[in-house]
Amino acid sequence: MGINKQGEKTDSFQPGMELHAKHTVFAEGCHGSLTKQLIKKFDLCRNADPQTYGLGIKEIWEIKPENHRQGHVLHTLGWPLDSKTYGGSWLYHMDGNLVSIGYVVGLDYTNPYLSPFEEMQRHKTHPYLKKLLSGGKRISYGARALVEGGLQSLPELTFPGGLLIGDSAGFLNVAKIKGNHAAIKSGMLAAEALARQINDKEATSYKDLFRQSWLYQELYAVRNIRAGFHWGLWIGLIHSAFQTLGGWKLPYTLHNHADFKQLDKAAQSKPIDYPKPDGQLTFDRLSSVFLSNTNHEEDQPCHLKLKDPSIPININLPEWAEPAQRYCPAAVYEIVEENGEKTFRINAQNCVHCKTCDIKDPSQNIDWTTPQGGGGPNYTGM
Ligand code: SF4
Repeated sequence: MGINKQGEKTDSFQPGMELHAKHTVFAEGCHGSLTKQLIKKFDLCRNADPQTYGLGIKEIWEIKPENHRQGHVLHTLGWPLDSKTYGGSWLYHMDGNLVSIGYVVGLDYTNPYLSPFEEMQRHKTHPYLKKLLSGGKRISYGARALVEGGLQSLPELTFPGGLLIGDSAGFLNVAKIKGNHAAIKSGMLAAEALARQINDKEATSYKDLFRQSWLYQELYAVRNIRAGFHWGLWIGLIHSAFQTLGGWKLPYTLHNHADFKQLDKAAQSKPIDYPKPDGQLTFDRLSSVFLSNTNHEEDQPCHLKLKDPSIPININLPEWAEPAQRYCPAAVYEIVEENGEKTFRINAQNCVHCKTCDIKDPSQNIDWTTPQGGGGPNYTGM
């Protein structure tokens, strides 16, 4: 039901109207802009660890037919990241000589000079990928944060008038890098709980249905795998093998820590010298954003809001060399000199809506809000 500006009920919807419902199911994907407000308003994380995230950067390539092996899948862990930093890649051979290639960097990385975008570009210079992609053409680009915290980071799933499903809640099996099945199952459990409530049948809550489901069992069994990589790649790998072989049955659960608190200070960190893009295999951010077909209405208010506009230059720059310049995969944030003074510039029109700035900013000063007019990336074949 809609309520117009005069407070009258109406069946047709117009911009700016309120929508009223008895129950609202929130399925906004990872770090949804409404969900983050709900979590804060109803203190839904009061009994949970902070959510943790990874940033996935993806490209679609059309490769030479002789290099293509339809259905072939390859996953890697580690390189080009150092062994302190969690990350890995995927490669899927799809129809029509297309491959999907991507790299995920855990957003609990500590070096403020790290650039997930540049790590993805370096990843493609591995001799295996270089050969595979040689003579091919990159046709699409995108980036998106994903939830990695698992069971111990799930917020309360319900609040007055609504509930959270899918990645909005944090249902992703990070050990399998799969979330579609979890999103579908959580939607089914939510529907069942609501139907029972509406039909006045025996009232089993969504939370109880989840606790009784295979989804809970699945997430319980992998709860310590991602958190174990906080000790680094090698111990994390040994620990995940131990967990997979039955260690998950032991009654301990590792804790997650907020990604934005993990950055070391710039003075204690080593700058990373990334190679220049060659325009064939590796690229810069602007030519990448072009392939995401990102578009935002001109002259709209900036959807990336700074709670305090002075923080990027006065705090983030001296403390962390303003990491927004590097963690954003779309070259939205820049430090430029204007009239002899350093200025923080926001090229909001480039934003591919990955949500990383809202998650990783060490001062938690950036609020990602929905742009006007439904603008954003328009991915093809992603
Ligand atoms: S501005 Fe933020 S949400 Fe947009 S692409 Fe950059 S990091 Fe992602």
